[in-house]
Amino acid sequence: MSALPIKNENGYFEIRMEAIGGMGANLAGKMLAEAAVIHMDLNGTTFSSYGSEKTGTPLKAFVRLGPGDEEIAIGGPVVNPHILVIFHTILRDILPVTSGLIKDGIVIVNSTMTPAEAKEFFDLPGGHIYVLDCDKIVIEEKVKINTVMMGAITKVSNFIEPDAVRKAITKGLGKFGDKIVQANIKAFERAMNEMQYEHFDWPEGMDEIPIAKVTQKIGYMNAPLGGAILNPGNTIDRDVSGSRAGWIPVWHEDKCTHCGICETACPDLCFTFEKGVDKNGKEGMMNRGIDYQYCKGCLKCVSVCPVDALTKEKEADFDVDKIRRAKTF
Ligand code: SF4
Ligand code: SF4
Repeated sequence: MSALPIKNENGYFEIRMEAIGGMGANLAGKMLAEAAVIHMDLNGTTFSSYGSEKTGTPLKAFVRLGPGDEEIAIGGPVVNPHILVIFHTILRDILPVTSGLIKDGIVIVNSTMTPAEAKEFFDLPGGHIYVLDCDKIVIEEKVKINTVMMGAITKVSNFIEPDAVRKAITKGLGKFGDKIVQANIKAFERAMNEMQYEHFDWPEGMDEIPIAKVTQKIGYMNAPLGGAILNPGNTIDRDVSGSRAGWIPVWHEDKCTHCGICETACPDLCFTFEKGVDKNGKEGMMNRGIDYQYCKGCLKCVSVCPVDALTKEKEADFDVDKIRRAKTF
C-alpha cells in the first residue's frame, strides 16, 4: 500500500484545482483519484463544484486521498489544499483562488511567468511554486490541459505513481482511440519534465493563507427591483478570455475592408466598429479591432474573413492587453 507523505489533521492529503469549465479539471480529478484508489491501494474521493453554465465559468475540482485501510469520512470541499493547481491566471481576477493554501504549500500555475513572477502575481506569501507553460504543450500535442496538469501534480506530489496515472489516462480516454491516448500520455510526461520551480520561505507565524469569503457583486439581497438592466451591453463585467485554448485571432488593419462579415460570424460580438471614413473617403462603420475580453478563441472570424485580415496566432506570442480594442458601449 502507498503511503501519504503528509496528511492534514483528519488524515488526508488534499488537492484543489482552480479551473474553468471545459478545461477538463473534473475529469483530471476522476483520473487522479482512480489512479490512487485502483492502482495504489489508497482510498480517495473526488468531486467538482461549478456554476450552472458549466463551460466557461470558474470550476473547482477536489481530490482527497487517505490510507487504503480507512474510509474517507469527509465529503466537503478542499479548503486547505496541500497542492493548489491554477489552470488559468485570469482566475486571480475572478476568485480568491489561493484561499486557504496550507503553510509552505505547493502551488502549480499554468503560465509563462517565472516562479518569482507567479508569486508576486498571486500575492503568495511563500511556498513551493511551480510554473508550467501548459498552453504550449496543449497546442503542440493537441490535447486538453487536464492531462498536462496531471503530469505536474504527479511530479510535485512525490508519491502519486506515474505508472498508476498512465493506466488511469489510458482507461479514461481509451474510448477516443489510441492516438488520443498516446498524445495525452506524451503531454503528461512532458509536464513532469518541463516545470520551473522555486521555493520561497513562508513568513513566520502564518499558518495558512487566510480563507476568503466569496461575495457576489449582485445576488438576491441586492439585485435591482424588477430585474432592471442598468447597463446596455451588460456583460461589461464578464471576461471570457479564460476559455481560450492558446489561440487568438489577430486583426490586420492594412488588409481589412471593413465588410463586417467577421462580426456577423462572431458568437460574442467581439469586434469594435466605429464611425469613420474608408480609403475612398466614404463614411461608414469601420472595424477597429477585437475586444479580447469577450473572445473565447473559437476562430470562426478567421475562417470567414475573405481577405485574410484575421489570422490564427499563438496567444503567448502577443500582449493581448496591448492589441485589445476595448468596446466603449
Ligand atoms: S471580415 Fe475581415 S475584412 Fe471584413 S471586417 Fe472582418 S476583418 Fe475586416
Ligand atoms: S475567435 Fe471567436 S469569439 Fe473571438 S473574435 Fe473570433 S469569432 Fe469572436
